[in-house]
Amino acid sequence: MRTYTPGKSNLSEQSWQYDLDAHDRIVSIGPGWSEFALENQAPAIAATGDVVGRPIWDYIHDEGTRDLYAALFAVARSGREIVVPFRCDAPTLKRYMVMSITSLADRGLRLTSTMLRSETRPYQPLLDPAARRSDEWVTVCAWCKRARIDDLWIEIDEATARWDAFGDGPVPRLTHGVCYDCYKNVMHEVEAAKHR
Ligand SMILES: [Zn+2]
Repeated sequence: MRTYTPGKSNLSEQSWQYDLDAHDRIVSIGPGWSEFALENQAPAIAATGDVVGRPIWDYIHDEGTRDLYAALFAVARSGREIVVPFRCDAPTLKRYMVMSITSLADRGLRLTSTMLRSETRPYQPLLDPAARRSDEWVTVCAWCKRARIDDLWIEIDEATARWDAFGDGPVPRLTHGVCYDCYKNVMHEVEAAKHR
C-alpha cells in the first residue's frame, strides 16, 4: 500500500505572480511561487534564483501550450487584460485556478494565478513525482489536467479507476499537451479579448 503525505499547506495567499520582460524572460517572482512549486512537488522551479532571467519558454514544452501562451501574450501586450481558467492539481487535490495576464511598461507582462477553489480527492499516483514509473507514457492536458486515454480526455481519477492496473505497480510517465476543448476555449478568450 502506497502512502502519500502532502506537504504542510500554508499558502498564505492562494495565488502566485511573476513578471516577464519584452523578451518573455522572467524578471521577478512573487512570494507565492516557491510555495506553489513546492506544493506541486516541482523543486526544479521552486528556487527563484534559478528561474529569474530564464525565458518562460524553458518551462513550456508542448507545442499546443506554447501556441496558446504566444496568443495570450500578444493580446495582453495590446493592452487588453486576459483571464483564462486552468487546473493546477496535486496528487490529492484538484485546484481550480484562473490566470490573468496584464501588460506592464516596456512590453512587459504580469501573470497572476489565483486559486478559486480546491477539492480533495483520493491519492493519484500519476501526479506524484515520487511514484514509480513504467516505460509507458500518458499525455495530460496542461490546462484541465485530464489525461488522454484512447483518444478520450478523462479526469485522472477516472483514468486511475479504469486502469485499475495502477494499484501498487508503476504508473506511466507524464507528458503534457492541450486537449481540443482547452485549445478551443483559450483561443475563444483570445478572440473575445481582441474585440473588447
Ligand atoms: Zn484540457
